[in-house]
Amino acid sequence: MKKNIIITIDGPAGSGKSSTAKLLASMLGFVYLDTGAMYRSVALAALDAGVDLKNEKAVEQIAGSVEIDFINDHGENRVFLNGQDVALRIREPKIDSASSLVSSYKVVREKMVDFQREFGTKGNIVAEGRDMGTVVFPDADLKIFLVADLQTRARRRCLQLKNAGIETSLDEQTSSLSSRDLFDSNRELSPLKKADDAIEINTSNISLNEQVQKIYNIVFRRLNL
Ligand code: C5P
Repeated sequence: MKKNIIITIDGPAGSGKSSTAKLLASMLGFVYLDTGAMYRSVALAALDAGVDLKNEKAVEQIAGSVEIDFINDHGENRVFLNGQDVALRIREPKIDSASSLVSSYKVVREKMVDFQREFGTKGNIVAEGRDMGTVVFPDADLKIFLVADLQTRARRRCLQLKNAGIETSLDEQTSSLSSRDLFDSNRELSPLKKADDAIEINTSNISLNEQVQKIYNIVFRRLNL
């Protein structure tokens, strides 16, 4: 089998990227790269340091000094920020818009992209985010773009947060997702966009297992594994 196979999964918030990428990676024995967790970690580090997120220079300094590590702990993906496990803290609702803002900064993106490409040299990966197929890994072996209607995405988000012990409302999530997508899609640098050669899958009316199986079949058809 070819070494360093890269499968990218991009799409808007709540389209099922994380769950799909995680499951697919585990079925294929690939490493899962959650790039949203990196921008979330930078946002959390900046907030913890009391930095005004609108202060681009200060946020960029934070991005330059943080250490982010991913550790797979018995199938659970743990995210470490400067040695601290922040897997739960980065999922707090306030980090949604904070990560979206810091990810629009040039130096922040450059640092994260360097780290992501370095990760891509270490083995076979399933990389998930907004610009995996367009900017970070333009020569990826397979590119998937997931979409789902806003109501479905908001419902999934509410459920995810509920499972994490965080109460929220459907209205709140609908408005948070749509404003984040609008910002992510219209920013100047690496906006959320389907790569020309990506395969689009609408996950609105299919289950997680169905969408993973669908991509798994495409992987075998396209990559001759
Ligand atoms: O995917 P997730 O919701 O965890 O991402 C959080 C934020 O990080 C997104 O709203 C987006 O602004 C940013 N992001 C990005 N590029 C990526 C992954 C995430 O700009 N590759």
